[in-house]
Amino acid sequence: MSFALSEIGLNPSEIGQEMYRLISELYPICRSITGEGVRQTLRLVQRHIPLTIHEIPSGTKVFDWTVPKEWNIRDAYIGNARGERIVDFNKSNLHVVGYSVPVKKKVSLQELKEHLFTLPDCPDWIPYRTSYYKESWGFCLSHRQWSNLREEEYEVCIESSLEDGHLTYGELYLQGETTDEVLISCHTCHPSLCNDNLSGIALATFLAKILSPVRRRYSYRFLFIPGTIGSITWLCLNEAKVGQIKHGFVVTGVGDPGKSVYKKSRRGDAEIDKAFAHVLKDAGGDCEVIDFFPYGYDERQYCSPGFNLPVGCLMRTPHGRYPEYHTSADNLEFVQTPYLADSFAKALSVLHVIENNKTYRNLNPKCEPQLGRRGLYEMIGGQQEAKSREMAMLWVLNLADGSHTLLDIADRSGIYFHPRYRPPAGGTRTLNGLRPIAGSVVQPHG
Ligand SMILES: [Zn+2]
Repeated sequence: MSFALSEIGLNPSEIGQEMYRLISELYPICRSITGEGVRQTLRLVQRHIPLTIHEIPSGTKVFDWTVPKEWNIRDAYIGNARGERIVDFNKSNLHVVGYSVPVKKKVSLQELKEHLFTLPDCPDWIPYRTSYYKESWGFCLSHRQWSNLREEEYEVCIESSLEDGHLTYGELYLQGETTDEVLISCHTCHPSLCNDNLSGIALATFLAKILSPVRRRYSYRFLFIPGTIGSITWLCLNEAKVGQIKHGFVVTGVGDPGKSVYKKSRRGDAEIDKAFAHVLKDAGGDCEVIDFFPYGYDERQYCSPGFNLPVGCLMRTPHGRYPEYHTSADNLEFVQTPYLADSFAKALSVLHVIENNKTYRNLNPKCEPQLGRRGLYEMIGGQQEAKSREMAMLWVLNLADGSHTLLDIADRSGIYFHPRYRPPAGGTRTLNGLRPIAGSVVQPHG
């Protein structure tokens, strides 16, 4: 038996609060795909888990890509003719287009507007824009502010640096009983955006923290990486380890009020895909499992055809399908504790399933074994709980033929595999709640 939720002593609401606290600490930091903001972020995560921080030099070739120059920023503003800062990086780090090259000059309104980005449909929000792979500069501001700009001379100043440096990422490896691995990956490259990036960081951090002390069948690898270039870099530099990854998921956007969504791996029938489908179905409410498509987060790289890893993506509302996405409205009000806690509990339930999912072979397959003789069959009828337990045994005995996993049996029988994060109502049983059957009628297979 590997870890069980009951042993972990999970309290979802406490976990949700801790996740929210970490998000609040990380929120003000100006992150990008490289730079001090990422290092600061990883150092804060290190207060919870012993992350190893890796530094990969700019210019390193990683498959078809090159690790970019390192970007850092100290200050930025747009000043009006009276010398007042009308757009100020210190008020929101979203005001500067990520990876803007340094600039300090006077510009006309017309020239200024060529470098400004707004959201006319949401006139009070600041958009989030980047220009990683094309050297340019720009500012983002609310459309309301943009509308008030008058014909005058402006001063634009971006005190940034774009120089050879490093791409920084964090990694935590937890050795399990086997070297087979579960990969959990999140992105660390967005500035003050809560759902998109910080919620995933928080979920991964607390999963790692909770899994660290418990007995685990699998080894776990947690990656805290910049989106796209981070996973490409890790895959390129660690190609020899990739074969160990038996299950995995990317975690992103898990704190918004939308329903839980799991995007399947490219394979579509991996054990992780089945485990998420099982847990989300059981969780009830509005949950959705969607097919893989080659866009989104780092699952695109893990599921590129040369790797084709069993790695899906856990989220709530998919990116781009909520108006707050990539705007200043993806803030500390948008992400909420109960949704963080709910996403966390679902992720942990899935890990519980894959930790405990095994294939058994019934060594007494010719007709049913006589359960009553072994004290396993209810003598007096009518007890609902005993009935459910017997049904679970009958399903296991029938389908434990060496080709069905416990998860397959749970799915087919409609019996819950995993303990839920809330105690189940009524007399339902989990397969996990079964005791080993007397006389070794079944034994582990493979
Ligand atoms: Zn994003």
